[in-house]
Amino acid sequence: MKNYSITLLKGDGIGPEIVNEAVKVLDRTAEKSGFTVTYTEALLGGCAIDATGVPLPQETIDKCKASDSVLLGAVGGPKWDDQPGNNRPEAGLLGIRGALGLFANLRPAVIFEQLKNASPLKSEIIGDAMDIMIVRELTGGIYFGKRGQFEEDGVKAAYDTEKYNVKEIERIGRVAFDMAMKRNKKLTSVDKANVLDSSRLWRATMIELSKEYPEVELNHLYVDNCAMQLVRNPKQFDVIVTSNIFGDILSDEASMISGSIGMLASASLNSTKLGMYEPIHGSAPDIAGKGIANPLATILSVAMMLRYSLDEPQAADAIENAVAEVLKTYRTPDIYTEGTTKVSTVEMGDAVCALI
Ligand code: NAD
Repeated sequence: MKNYSITLLKGDGIGPEIVNEAVKVLDRTAEKSGFTVTYTEALLGGCAIDATGVPLPQETIDKCKASDSVLLGAVGGPKWDDQPGNNRPEAGLLGIRGALGLFANLRPAVIFEQLKNASPLKSEIIGDAMDIMIVRELTGGIYFGKRGQFEEDGVKAAYDTEKYNVKEIERIGRVAFDMAMKRNKKLTSVDKANVLDSSRLWRATMIELSKEYPEVELNHLYVDNCAMQLVRNPKQFDVIVTSNIFGDILSDEASMISGSIGMLASASLNSTKLGMYEPIHGSAPDIAGKGIANPLATILSVAMMLRYSLDEPQAADAIENAVAEVLKTYRTPDIYTEGTTKVSTVEMGDAVCALI
């Protein structure tokens, strides 16, 4: 029987509560699908600072590299707010992404039909459902470019630089084109080619790459226009590919359209199949320990893991279908509406398991 080894980075705040439910669902799915899973736990974020003094111990990197895939809860919280910048929990997150070479961030922005009313957009704009995949470059661009502070005519000044080379653009482009091939064969590349040289190279490289994918319809949008189109007509999008900084902003915008932060999963991939899977929300310190956190984003992250790292698409479908079904009846407080049954974090995990 196939066995997969998964490293669990439960992290801080609600992290352990939501990861426990996701593990329960993965075990149930494995039992039904005929494979087994072994887990190793490792420390990341505030809990790692408490235990070892640093947010990303070497042991954590080693354990992640030795596994088939990584599941992360969330890191951070007020307890570690006065740590210096390079020793904050979030520095551990950037560090593990770098150490594992996770250059592609996949963020689906999906509206489940049952949660249509939670979207801040009018229902006629959303239609029956929304399903966009944002592919964001994660290890290049302005967040990693040359930066500095200096004095200019007696006043303080600072700069950051956006730089991409063709290889980096092709690498993320391939992930996006391959994704489009598996979906509706429509890819929107987002840049600011009317102003930025780095964007002109981005656009030219995407056009060149598109010759390898004749079935995919490629179009280009400036980032400001894309931000508008996402709220004007989100249904026009299938897969969006963009740079680190534009993807950071657009994926948050797209996730708000879905209405509930507790529902959205994400994946970060490297050039092997190793990926790190996590909900897009943070550690929610305001509700940690209360047993009311919504575990569905983490459970849906496990579905992404099965699809993109472990090649178990049917198991992924089983989880996604169970989540859609469970929403008809059961809701954690963040997505509760009248006529449904309010449940705890653990009860939500149990309800999903029961439907697999
Ligand atoms: P947050 O996402 O933790 O919380 C924002 C709001 O959404 C809160 O009201 C919270 O209760 C609610 N919420 C979030 N997830 C929920 C869930 N699963 N179920 C129900 N409600 C949920 O964002 P924040 O408050 O800005 O950040 C809190 C901490 O998390 C900070 O230390 C921040 O740096 C960290 N953070 C970590 C990550 C990560 O680990 N990837 C991402 C974002 C923020």
